[in-house]
Amino acid sequence: MRKKVIAGNWKMNKVLSEANQFVDDVAGKVPNSDNVEAIVCAPFPFLATLVEKTKGTSLKVSAQNMHFEDNGAFTGEVSPVMLKDLGVTHVVLGHSERREYFAETDETVNKKAHAAFKHDLTPIVCVGETLEQREANETKGLVESQVKRALDGLSDDQITQTIIAYEPVWAIGTGKTASSEDANEVCSHIRNVVKEITSEAVAEKVVIQYGGSVKPTNVDELLAQSDIDGALVGGASLEAESFLQLVEAGV
Ligand code: PGA
Repeated sequence: MRKKVIAGNWKMNKVLSEANQFVDDVAGKVPNSDNVEAIVCAPFPFLATLVEKTKGTSLKVSAQNMHFEDNGAFTGEVSPVMLKDLGVTHVVLGHSERREYFAETDETVNKKAHAAFKHDLTPIVCVGETLEQREANETKGLVESQVKRALDGLSDDQITQTIIAYEPVWAIGTGKTASSEDANEVCSHIRNVVKEITSEAVAEKVVIQYGGSVKPTNVDELLAQSDIDGALVGGASLEAESFLQLVEAGV
């Protein structure tokens, strides 16, 4: 049985007092369960405080991005060494907004995935097609190549620990969710790709999330699918109550 991983991706939202309030409202209520893992993916300036505030709770703290180098002359960047030192456990890599607005590529995602494992951070690797690509029937081929390139050179053990988030770009922040069957079909394809590059045992263990307009009203149906092991949630993760409902759905 794979656990369900519910990750709230705040994107560029909240100020520190709001982030603190959210964690005060949520952290103590996250169930300590083997079935579900709850993560908040917060902006860099809040990470240190949130890690402190979540100590002793089941809520984990993730960054939304990082650079792949350990340190050096990279003005404005944040390194895996810094994240690890703060006590951050996860990092989102290759979100479609980073690919679209900040020139993230499969190659940089791959470098960052290696850097994450070097520093004992768990990567949440995002893949997904645009509407044009879906309409041109390119979804499976594209997602396959994104997964293969992101995971290139990782060991089977590292791939087992990687969280893959399938997020169709056209479903992000639009209120349009992929039907649970369509989402499951792509997640199942991703599992087959993982099997092809590793083994059936690894593919059976790897956590594959769906993301794109997930909310408390559609999460149950999505999580009931055979190959959807959680959700990466933007808009509906900003309010404590709705985030907790999403986490409860995973228990
Ligand atoms: P959304 O965002 O839930 O607001 O669609 C999902 C994401 O971008 O991770």
